[in-house]
Amino acid sequence: MSYPDVLLHINGEWRKSRSGEALPVLNPATEEQIGTVAKATRADLDEALAAAEKGFRAWSRVPAFERYKLMRKAAEIFRSRADEVARLLTMEQGKPLAEAKIEVLAGADIIDWFAEEGRRAYGRVIPARGEGIYQLVIKEPVGPVAAFTPWNFPINQVVRKLSAAVATGCSIIVKPPEETPASPAELLRAFLDAGLPPGVANYVYGVPAEISEYLIPHPVIRKVTFTGSTAVGKQLAALAGRHMKRVTMELGGHAPAIVFDDADLDYAVRLLAGAKFRNAGQVCVSPTRFLVQERLYEPFVEKFVAAAKALKVGNGLEPGTQMGPLAHERRLPWVEGLVADARQKGATVRTGGERIGNKGYFYAPTVLTDVPKEARMMNEEPFGPIAMIAPFREFEEVVEEANRLPYGLAAYAFTRSAKTANAIAAKVETGMMTINHLGLALPEVPFGGVKDSGYGSEGGSEAIEAYLNTKFVTQAGL
Ligand code: NAD
Repeated sequence: MSYPDVLLHINGEWRKSRSGEALPVLNPATEEQIGTVAKATRADLDEALAAAEKGFRAWSRVPAFERYKLMRKAAEIFRSRADEVARLLTMEQGKPLAEAKIEVLAGADIIDWFAEEGRRAYGRVIPARGEGIYQLVIKEPVGPVAAFTPWNFPINQVVRKLSAAVATGCSIIVKPPEETPASPAELLRAFLDAGLPPGVANYVYGVPAEISEYLIPHPVIRKVTFTGSTAVGKQLAALAGRHMKRVTMELGGHAPAIVFDDADLDYAVRLLAGAKFRNAGQVCVSPTRFLVQERLYEPFVEKFVAAAKALKVGNGLEPGTQMGPLAHERRLPWVEGLVADARQKGATVRTGGERIGNKGYFYAPTVLTDVPKEARMMNEEPFGPIAMIAPFREFEEVVEEANRLPYGLAAYAFTRSAKTANAIAAKVETGMMTINHLGLALPEVPFGGVKDSGYGSEGGSEAIEAYLNTKFVTQAGL
């Protein structure tokens, strides 16, 4: 299957940029150029804004039930194309084909869930203080949305935003990732094939900063949603704040994974190693700081290292591959820099700690111990296949370490004690906590962070709220 030259989608039309310019798209497993993606100009952005304004006027009048029917159809179409879309996703992003297919199918489930939830965007009636007075709370779509999404889950990061916008009657301009443009384009194609009218959803690719700096302040845009690094998120939130735009920010994390000494060791290692190396660690909720209570520390390290060594790393298209390359060329020097820094500060590399081969952005599954707190990787998001394991003694000590960083996205804990489970859930400053299993990111549960990890939710009924305004109407009968 060949990889396409990906086009902009503006006002119902797939087309090149007005300048004709395009950016190369590389396969991270081979470093070969596999296609191109159109690079939007200011003129393209103006056309996308005009389309979104027009699209919003039309789409916000379509009844929720009709929107729901269209979305259910889009989900079915997308699901039926899972094999082809997964292949494109692996070619451009690197993750194993099985993981790519799961992402596509999960994307279809997310469309379904938002479709249903859109029908239930209820307002309410508030009892009045006087006879004949009706106090109504009405939910209305916020308006045209600007969305910016990254390359680690090219479909998942778009589908949450696109589905919420379409379900609530908003229009949207998405800037999907330039590194991985084809799979999100297929997601939009499913909506269009289901009958989404022109202008409701528009895609622009190009230079991220140029696009966000133009779209966010623009008067047509009423809401901004971004998934990516905390540094960029802060810039975009500040810009949105200057122009009083609604904002959802899903940013970086540095998840603590806490293993108490009463945990089921083999079970904890199996789940946590799977979570750590999924998508080569390029996951905002990836477990990162492994904190293991003293008695289990050495056996945990030993088993975790064995799990890391056993992973089959390779081209995601090849059968049996369990971990692919890093997704683009900027990631390798980042990960190498973090490991060099930790080594230099006294860390022990138990396995990995180096690039694999010299073609493709492969990095070995890596486990480190004795990493000092001042090492960069203990403070900055590795966003790569790196696990740092440290022992702890007491409950209070591990709580302090878990809360040491400004991040607060996800946290993991393993214990057989219900009392410890309740206590740790209460004490960790985090947006999401998963205890004794991996239970994050289903469509129907909240997904979001606190502190520097952002605000707002991309899952659960909270995710729909973010796309709705509340209008209060009070009316007295004459
Ligand atoms: P980066 O900071 O350059 O880019 C991160 C994402 O933000 C990319 O998709 C990029 O297109 C977008 N972006 C960057 N500047 C932007 C701007 N001014 N306006 C709009 N969008 C912009 O770096 P990177 O190497 O691609 O990723 C590095 C870091 O980003 C990772 O270490 C991780 O912390 C974070 N990240 C987080 C997630 C997540 O799921 N929360 C996903 C991808 C990357």
